[in-house]
Amino acid sequence: MYSLRRVMVSNAKAASNLYHALEAILVFLNPVWKFVGLERIDKAFSFIERNIKGLLFDCQMCGYCVLDKTGMSCPMNCPKQIRNGPCGGVRDDGNCEVKPEMRCVWLEAWRGAKKLDPNTTVVPDLEILSPVDQLRKGHSSWLIKVQEIQSSKVSVSHD
Ligand code: SF4
Repeated sequence: MYSLRRVMVSNAKAASNLYHALEAILVFLNPVWKFVGLERIDKAFSFIERNIKGLLFDCQMCGYCVLDKTGMSCPMNCPKQIRNGPCGGVRDDGNCEVKPEMRCVWLEAWRGAKKLDPNTTVVPDLEILSPVDQLRKGHSSWLIKVQEIQSSKVSVSHD
């Protein structure tokens, strides 16, 4: 929902804290997810993610969430689906070239990033974001994060 999406950016710090707390809980419960089976969990996670993040962030279920790198503004709401900053068509009023009634998601990302860190000078967060993996679309990005964090813990413990 557009208005809620903007509220989330206005409160990016609280939204980010909530997001990371949820992520920490999901990682903590990883043994449960493994036991139940990743395929079944993906369906359940996707259902919850689609509804909660769809409501709060207009999540488009890209399969790899970058909200925490883009000031809690989902770049997939850009009609051009640009993942690394605005195109050259932002209107003078800061709205989108393709959807004039919508604020550019990258101006929103900048607004949210400043709320997260007033000293920031770049969005996304000093990192080039990879393009969307079309095979991941519609799947849970939470599940990927859980697996990534878990595997990085395993590799650290093996080093
Ligand atoms: S970046 Fe992807 S997973 Fe995250 S809110 Fe946007 S569409 Fe959803």
